[in-house]
Amino acid sequence: MLPMLRERKTAVFGLVAGRHPLPVDKYIWTEEVQNPMDHKALYEHASNVIGNEWDEITVYVTGLTPCLLAVVDHCHWAGITLKVMQYDRNNDSYVESTLFVYDECPFCKGRIARNAWSYYCPKCGST
Ligand SMILES: [Zn+2]
Repeated sequence: MLPMLRERKTAVFGLVAGRHPLPVDKYIWTEEVQNPMDHKALYEHASNVIGNEWDEITVYVTGLTPCLLAVVDHCHWAGITLKVMQYDRNNDSYVESTLFVYDECPFCKGRIARNAWSYYCPKCGST
């Protein structure tokens, strides 16, 4: 019998409201960012808004790099797969980059992190 797969919990956000129109109905920052150099404050904000309940979030970015770094930091820390959607003006579409993809190690069944090119199992060391 196949194991029952739990439905993946996902959410979609825009990074910062009021900069460019984005195909989202909620944003991580809804007001102007006061101090883009305060990484701790940005990280705490991203962490509070996003929370830990997701398996994967999609974030449409708007060009405020310190905010994106805070989101990346939170997703890494909380073990959330992060899909970053960047606008491609040449094609009037969004290009996806996915970070922090987790999988099951085929050797020891441990949780592994991987990207599109490789993976590493911290438990058994397989690559
Ligand atoms: Zn392993």
